[in-house]
Amino acid sequence: MIIAMQATATESQIQHICERIREFGYQPHIIKGTERTVIAAVGPGDKKEHIESLKSAEGVEDAFPIIQPFKLVSKEVKKQKTTIKLGDVTIGDGGFVVMAGPCSVEGREQLMTTAVAVAASGAHFLRGGAYKPRTSPYDFQGMAEEGLKLLAEAREQTGLKVITEVLDTEDVKIVGEYADILQVGARNMQNFALLKKLGEVKKPIMLKRGLSATIKEFLLSAEYIVSHGNPEVILCERGIRTFETATRNTLDLAAVPLLNELTHLPVVVDPSHATGKRSLVRPLAKASVAVGADGLMAEVHPRPEEAWSDGPQSLRLEEFDILMKEIEPYIKLRQSEKH
Ligand code: PEP
Ligand code: MN
Repeated sequence: MIIAMQATATESQIQHICERIREFGYQPHIIKGTERTVIAAVGPGDKKEHIESLKSAEGVEDAFPIIQPFKLVSKEVKKQKTTIKLGDVTIGDGGFVVMAGPCSVEGREQLMTTAVAVAASGAHFLRGGAYKPRTSPYDFQGMAEEGLKLLAEAREQTGLKVITEVLDTEDVKIVGEYADILQVGARNMQNFALLKKLGEVKKPIMLKRGLSATIKEFLLSAEYIVSHGNPEVILCERGIRTFETATRNTLDLAAVPLLNELTHLPVVVDPSHATGKRSLVRPLAKASVAVGADGLMAEVHPRPEEAWSDGPQSLRLEEFDILMKEIEPYIKLRQSEKH
Protein backbone atom coordinates (compact mmCIF):
# COMPACT_ATOMS: atom_id res chain seq x y z
CA MET A 1 0.00 0.00 0.00
CA ILE A 2 0.99 3.65 -0.29
CA ILE A 3 0.93 6.01 2.65
CA ALA A 4 1.07 9.61 1.53
CA MET A 5 2.28 11.78 4.38
CA GLN A 6 1.06 15.34 4.88
CA ALA A 7 3.45 18.03 3.66
CA THR A 8 3.84 19.10 7.30
CA ALA A 9 4.56 15.56 8.62
CA THR A 10 7.51 15.40 11.00
CA GLU A 11 10.39 12.94 10.83
CA SER A 12 9.17 11.21 14.00
CA GLN A 13 5.68 10.80 12.49
CA ILE A 14 7.27 9.23 9.40
CA GLN A 15 9.34 6.88 11.58
CA HIS A 16 6.27 5.99 13.63
CA ILE A 17 4.36 5.01 10.48
CA CYS A 18 7.34 2.88 9.36
CA GLU A 19 7.23 1.03 12.69
CA ARG A 20 3.49 0.40 12.39
CA ILE A 21 4.04 -0.87 8.83
CA ARG A 22 6.67 -3.34 10.08
CA GLU A 23 4.35 -4.50 12.86
CA PHE A 24 1.71 -5.25 10.23
CA GLY A 25 4.27 -7.41 8.37
CA TYR A 26 5.19 -5.10 5.48
CA GLN A 27 8.52 -3.59 4.52
CA PRO A 28 8.50 0.24 4.43
CA HIS A 29 10.33 2.14 1.68
CA ILE A 30 10.52 5.90 2.17
CA ILE A 31 10.30 7.97 -1.00
CA LYS A 32 11.06 11.63 -0.41
CA GLY A 33 9.45 13.91 -2.99
CA THR A 34 9.95 17.62 -3.45
CA GLU A 35 6.75 18.46 -1.56
CA ARG A 36 5.98 15.49 0.63
CA THR A 37 7.08 12.04 1.67
CA VAL A 38 5.42 8.88 0.48
CA ILE A 39 5.94 5.53 2.17
CA ALA A 40 5.48 2.39 0.11
CA ALA A 41 4.61 -0.59 2.29
CA VAL A 42 5.31 -3.78 0.41
CA GLY A 43 4.51 -7.28 1.49
CA PRO A 44 1.92 -9.96 0.97
CA GLY A 45 -1.45 -8.34 0.16
CA ASP A 46 -2.77 -4.93 1.19
CA LYS A 47 -5.21 -5.63 4.06
CA LYS A 48 -8.17 -3.27 4.35
CA GLU A 49 -7.92 -2.99 8.14
CA HIS A 50 -4.25 -2.00 7.89
CA ILE A 51 -5.04 0.70 5.34
CA GLU A 52 -7.89 2.07 7.51
CA SER A 53 -5.75 2.09 10.62
CA LEU A 54 -2.85 3.92 8.91
CA LYS A 55 -5.23 6.42 7.31
CA SER A 56 -6.19 7.76 10.71
CA ALA A 57 -2.62 7.97 12.06
CA GLU A 58 -1.07 11.34 12.75
CA GLY A 59 0.73 13.02 9.89
CA VAL A 60 -0.95 10.82 7.27
CA GLU A 61 -2.76 12.45 4.37
CA ASP A 62 -4.03 9.26 2.75
CA ALA A 63 -3.40 5.52 2.45
CA PHE A 64 -4.42 3.32 -0.46
CA PRO A 65 -3.53 -0.05 -2.04
CA ILE A 66 -1.04 -0.46 -4.89
CA ILE A 67 -2.98 -2.12 -7.69
CA GLN A 68 -0.08 -3.32 -9.86
CA PRO A 69 1.81 -6.53 -8.96
CA PHE A 70 5.09 -4.57 -9.21
CA LYS A 71 5.17 -2.00 -6.44
CA LEU A 72 8.31 0.10 -5.94
CA VAL A 73 8.94 0.49 -9.68
CA SER A 74 5.32 1.48 -10.33
CA LYS A 75 4.18 4.98 -11.24
CA GLU A 76 1.52 4.53 -8.56
CA VAL A 77 4.24 4.83 -5.94
CA LYS A 78 6.32 7.53 -7.60
CA LYS A 79 5.06 9.77 -10.38
CA GLN A 80 8.34 11.58 -11.03
CA LYS A 81 10.80 9.85 -13.34
CA THR A 82 13.85 8.34 -11.68
CA THR A 83 16.95 10.22 -12.78
CA ILE A 84 20.35 8.58 -12.59
CA LYS A 85 23.29 10.93 -12.41
CA LEU A 86 26.80 9.80 -13.22
CA GLY A 87 29.15 12.76 -13.23
CA ASP A 88 28.07 15.06 -16.03
CA VAL A 89 25.63 12.54 -17.57
CA THR A 90 22.05 12.16 -16.36
CA ILE A 91 19.72 9.40 -17.51
CA GLY A 92 15.99 10.03 -17.28
CA ASP A 93 15.98 13.85 -17.24
CA GLY A 94 14.31 14.18 -20.64
CA GLY A 95 17.58 14.07 -22.57
CA PHE A 96 18.83 11.18 -24.69
CA VAL A 97 21.84 9.16 -23.56
CA VAL A 98 23.84 7.06 -26.03
CA MET A 99 25.79 3.91 -25.13
CA ALA A 100 27.97 2.53 -27.90
CA GLY A 101 30.79 0.08 -28.42
CA PRO A 102 31.63 -3.42 -29.48
CA CYS A 103 29.65 -6.49 -28.52
CA SER A 104 32.80 -7.98 -26.95
CA VAL A 105 36.02 -6.46 -25.78
CA GLU A 106 38.51 -8.19 -28.08
CA GLY A 107 41.75 -6.34 -27.40
CA ARG A 108 43.33 -2.92 -26.82
CA GLU A 109 43.47 -1.69 -30.41
CA GLN A 110 39.86 -2.70 -31.16
CA LEU A 111 38.48 -1.15 -27.98
CA MET A 112 40.51 2.08 -28.04
CA THR A 113 39.79 2.74 -31.72
CA THR A 114 36.07 2.29 -31.06
CA ALA A 115 36.08 4.32 -27.85
CA VAL A 116 37.89 7.30 -29.38
CA ALA A 117 35.56 7.27 -32.40
CA VAL A 118 32.26 6.94 -30.51
CA ALA A 119 33.36 9.63 -28.05
CA ALA A 120 34.14 11.98 -30.92
CA SER A 121 30.71 11.27 -32.39
CA GLY A 122 29.05 12.24 -29.10
CA ALA A 123 28.36 8.97 -27.23
CA HIS A 124 28.16 9.16 -23.44
CA PHE A 125 28.95 5.54 -22.57
CA LEU A 126 31.29 2.91 -23.89
CA ARG A 127 29.75 -0.55 -23.94
CA GLY A 128 31.64 -3.80 -24.33
CA GLY A 129 31.25 -7.27 -22.90
CA ALA A 130 34.08 -8.81 -20.89
CA TYR A 131 31.88 -11.69 -19.72
CA LYS A 132 29.82 -12.90 -22.66
CA PRO A 133 26.57 -14.90 -22.52
CA ARG A 134 27.09 -16.99 -25.66
CA THR A 135 24.47 -19.40 -27.00
CA SER A 136 27.18 -21.97 -27.73
CA PRO A 137 29.72 -22.98 -25.10
CA TYR A 138 32.30 -23.25 -27.91
CA ASP A 139 32.03 -19.54 -28.82
CA PHE A 140 34.29 -16.80 -27.40
CA GLN A 141 33.31 -16.28 -23.76
CA GLY A 142 34.96 -12.90 -23.19
CA MET A 143 38.27 -11.56 -21.86
CA ALA A 144 37.03 -11.41 -18.23
CA GLU A 145 39.12 -9.14 -15.94
CA GLU A 146 41.58 -8.30 -18.71
CA GLY A 147 38.59 -6.93 -20.66
CA LEU A 148 37.42 -4.90 -17.65
CA LYS A 149 40.89 -3.37 -17.38
CA LEU A 150 40.81 -2.35 -21.02
CA LEU A 151 37.38 -0.74 -20.49
CA ALA A 152 38.80 1.23 -17.55
CA GLU A 153 41.75 2.31 -19.71
CA ALA A 154 39.36 3.47 -22.44
CA ARG A 155 37.37 5.45 -19.87
CA GLU A 156 40.58 7.09 -18.70
CA GLN A 157 41.54 7.99 -22.25
CA THR A 158 38.18 9.24 -23.54
CA GLY A 159 36.13 10.35 -20.53
CA LEU A 160 33.35 7.96 -21.56
CA LYS A 161 31.52 6.12 -18.79
CA VAL A 162 31.56 2.32 -18.94
CA ILE A 163 28.64 -0.09 -19.07
CA THR A 164 29.40 -3.81 -19.09
CA GLU A 165 27.59 -7.05 -18.40
CA VAL A 166 27.75 -9.10 -15.23
CA LEU A 167 26.87 -12.74 -15.89
CA ASP A 168 27.18 -14.33 -12.52
CA THR A 169 26.72 -13.58 -8.81
CA GLU A 170 30.40 -14.47 -8.36
CA ASP A 171 31.47 -11.65 -10.67
CA VAL A 172 29.33 -8.86 -9.17
CA LYS A 173 32.20 -7.59 -7.01
CA ILE A 174 34.80 -7.42 -9.74
CA VAL A 175 32.49 -5.99 -12.41
CA GLY A 176 31.27 -3.44 -9.83
CA GLU A 177 34.85 -2.28 -9.30
CA TYR A 178 35.29 -1.35 -12.97
CA ALA A 179 31.84 -0.51 -14.39
CA ASP A 180 29.87 2.72 -14.02
CA ILE A 181 26.69 0.79 -14.88
CA LEU A 182 26.35 -2.99 -14.53
CA GLN A 183 24.33 -4.65 -17.27
CA VAL A 184 22.10 -7.68 -16.79
CA GLY A 185 21.68 -9.47 -20.10
CA ALA A 186 18.42 -10.73 -21.55
CA ARG A 187 19.29 -14.33 -20.68
CA ASN A 188 19.69 -13.38 -17.03
CA MET A 189 16.57 -11.24 -16.62
CA GLN A 190 15.05 -13.85 -14.34
CA ASN A 191 18.25 -14.91 -12.59
CA PHE A 192 16.75 -13.95 -9.25
CA ALA A 193 19.90 -14.72 -7.24
CA LEU A 194 21.82 -12.27 -9.45
CA LEU A 195 19.06 -9.64 -9.24
CA LYS A 196 18.98 -9.85 -5.43
CA LYS A 197 22.74 -9.46 -5.24
CA LEU A 198 22.60 -6.43 -7.56
CA GLY A 199 20.14 -4.90 -5.12
CA GLU A 200 23.05 -4.54 -2.72
CA VAL A 201 25.31 -2.80 -5.24
CA LYS A 202 25.79 0.96 -5.00
CA LYS A 203 25.94 1.47 -8.76
CA PRO A 204 23.15 1.69 -11.38
CA ILE A 205 21.97 -1.48 -13.08
CA MET A 206 20.71 -1.75 -16.65
CA LEU A 207 18.28 -4.64 -16.90
CA LYS A 208 17.65 -6.01 -20.39
CA ARG A 209 14.28 -7.52 -21.25
CA GLY A 210 14.28 -11.32 -21.40
CA LEU A 211 14.00 -13.11 -24.73
CA SER A 212 10.33 -13.95 -24.14
CA ALA A 213 9.50 -11.79 -21.14
CA THR A 214 6.21 -9.99 -20.76
CA ILE A 215 6.18 -6.41 -19.55
CA LYS A 216 4.89 -7.60 -16.19
CA GLU A 217 7.75 -10.11 -15.82
CA PHE A 218 10.23 -7.43 -16.89
CA LEU A 219 8.98 -5.00 -14.24
CA LEU A 220 8.87 -7.69 -11.56
CA SER A 221 12.53 -8.44 -12.28
CA ALA A 222 13.32 -4.74 -11.84
CA GLU A 223 11.31 -4.91 -8.60
CA TYR A 224 13.72 -7.58 -7.31
CA ILE A 225 16.66 -5.18 -7.63
CA VAL A 226 14.84 -2.17 -6.20
CA SER A 227 13.25 -4.09 -3.30
CA HIS A 228 16.69 -5.40 -2.35
CA GLY A 229 17.98 -1.86 -1.91
CA ASN A 230 19.11 -0.46 -5.25
CA PRO A 231 16.69 2.14 -6.70
CA GLU A 232 18.90 2.95 -9.70
CA VAL A 233 17.58 0.64 -12.40
CA ILE A 234 17.41 1.35 -16.13
CA LEU A 235 15.24 -0.85 -18.33
CA CYS A 236 16.40 -1.89 -21.79
CA GLU A 237 14.05 -3.07 -24.55
CA ARG A 238 16.20 -5.28 -26.81
CA GLY A 239 13.61 -7.14 -28.81
CA ILE A 240 11.63 -10.26 -28.04
CA ARG A 241 11.31 -13.58 -29.78
CA THR A 242 8.29 -13.87 -32.09
CA PHE A 243 7.31 -16.02 -35.09
CA GLU A 244 9.27 -13.62 -37.31
CA THR A 245 12.69 -14.87 -38.32
CA ALA A 246 13.64 -12.15 -40.83
CA THR A 247 15.08 -10.20 -37.92
CA ARG A 248 17.00 -11.68 -34.97
CA ASN A 249 14.24 -10.52 -32.61
CA THR A 250 11.21 -8.25 -32.90
CA LEU A 251 11.74 -4.79 -31.43
CA ASP A 252 8.76 -4.03 -29.23
CA LEU A 253 8.67 -0.28 -29.69
CA ALA A 254 5.27 -0.10 -28.00
CA ALA A 255 6.98 -1.29 -24.83
CA VAL A 256 8.69 2.10 -24.53
CA PRO A 257 5.62 4.36 -24.13
CA LEU A 258 3.88 1.56 -22.23
CA LEU A 259 6.74 1.32 -19.73
CA ASN A 260 6.69 5.10 -19.46
CA GLU A 261 3.02 4.80 -18.43
CA LEU A 262 3.65 2.04 -15.89
CA THR A 263 7.00 2.84 -14.31
CA HIS A 264 9.16 5.78 -13.28
CA LEU A 265 12.35 3.93 -14.31
CA PRO A 266 14.27 5.19 -17.37
CA VAL A 267 13.99 3.14 -20.58
CA VAL A 268 16.72 2.53 -23.16
CA VAL A 269 16.37 0.82 -26.57
CA ASP A 270 18.91 -1.57 -28.10
CA PRO A 271 18.15 -1.86 -31.83
CA SER A 272 21.32 -3.92 -32.45
CA HIS A 273 20.27 -7.07 -30.59
CA ALA A 274 16.63 -6.36 -31.48
CA THR A 275 17.25 -6.70 -35.21
CA GLY A 276 20.58 -8.46 -35.72
CA LYS A 277 20.96 -6.34 -38.88
CA ARG A 278 23.24 -3.33 -39.25
CA SER A 279 20.96 -1.66 -41.83
CA LEU A 280 18.03 -1.54 -39.39
CA VAL A 281 19.85 0.04 -36.47
CA ARG A 282 19.79 3.67 -37.63
CA PRO A 283 16.07 3.80 -38.54
CA LEU A 284 15.13 2.23 -35.21
CA ALA A 285 17.45 4.55 -33.31
CA LYS A 286 15.42 7.46 -34.68
CA ALA A 287 12.19 5.69 -33.77
CA SER A 288 13.48 5.19 -30.22
CA VAL A 289 13.80 8.92 -29.74
CA ALA A 290 10.35 9.48 -31.20
CA VAL A 291 8.60 6.98 -28.89
CA GLY A 292 10.13 8.53 -25.78
CA ALA A 293 13.14 6.41 -24.85
CA ASP A 294 15.68 7.90 -22.48
CA GLY A 295 18.56 6.49 -24.44
CA LEU A 296 20.03 4.06 -26.91
CA MET A 297 22.49 1.20 -26.85
CA ALA A 298 24.19 0.37 -30.15
CA GLU A 299 26.96 -2.03 -31.10
CA VAL A 300 29.84 -0.45 -33.00
CA HIS A 301 33.01 -2.11 -34.32
CA PRO A 302 35.89 -0.73 -36.41
CA ARG A 303 35.83 -3.85 -38.63
CA PRO A 304 32.49 -5.64 -38.15
CA GLU A 305 33.43 -8.41 -40.62
CA GLU A 306 36.22 -9.42 -38.21
CA ALA A 307 34.19 -9.11 -34.99
CA TRP A 308 34.34 -12.07 -32.62
CA SER A 309 30.62 -11.66 -31.86
CA ASP A 310 27.63 -9.88 -33.39
CA GLY A 311 29.47 -8.47 -36.42
CA PRO A 312 26.39 -8.43 -38.71
CA GLN A 313 24.55 -6.05 -36.37
CA SER A 314 27.53 -3.84 -35.52
CA LEU A 315 27.74 -0.39 -37.06
CA ARG A 316 31.00 0.77 -38.62
CA LEU A 317 32.53 3.85 -36.97
CA GLU A 318 31.36 6.19 -39.72
CA GLU A 319 27.84 4.72 -39.65
CA PHE A 320 27.63 5.43 -35.94
CA ASP A 321 28.70 8.99 -36.62
CA ILE A 322 25.85 9.34 -39.13
CA LEU A 323 23.44 7.82 -36.57
CA MET A 324 24.39 10.49 -34.02
CA LYS A 325 23.77 13.24 -36.58
CA GLU A 326 20.51 11.64 -37.70
CA ILE A 327 18.97 11.39 -34.23
CA GLU A 328 19.84 14.97 -33.34
CA PRO A 329 16.81 16.67 -35.00
CA TYR A 330 14.49 14.13 -33.32
CA ILE A 331 16.02 14.92 -29.93
CA LYS A 332 15.64 18.66 -30.58
CA LEU A 333 12.02 18.23 -31.68
CA ARG A 334 11.23 16.25 -28.55
CA GLN A 335 12.80 18.87 -26.35
CA SER A 336 10.91 21.70 -28.06
CA GLU A 337 7.61 19.79 -27.64
CA LYS A 338 8.24 19.58 -23.90
CA HIS A 339 8.46 23.38 -23.53
C1 PEP B 1 24.79 -7.52 -24.98
O1 PEP B 1 24.29 -6.40 -24.85
O2 PEP B 1 26.00 -7.70 -25.06
C2 PEP B 1 23.92 -8.71 -25.02
C3 PEP B 1 24.43 -9.94 -24.87
O3 PEP B 1 22.64 -8.44 -25.23
P1 PEP B 1 21.32 -9.28 -24.81
O4 PEP B 1 21.53 -9.67 -23.38
O5 PEP B 1 20.22 -8.25 -25.00
O6 PEP B 1 21.21 -10.42 -25.74
MN1 MN C 1 26.12 -8.43 -28.78
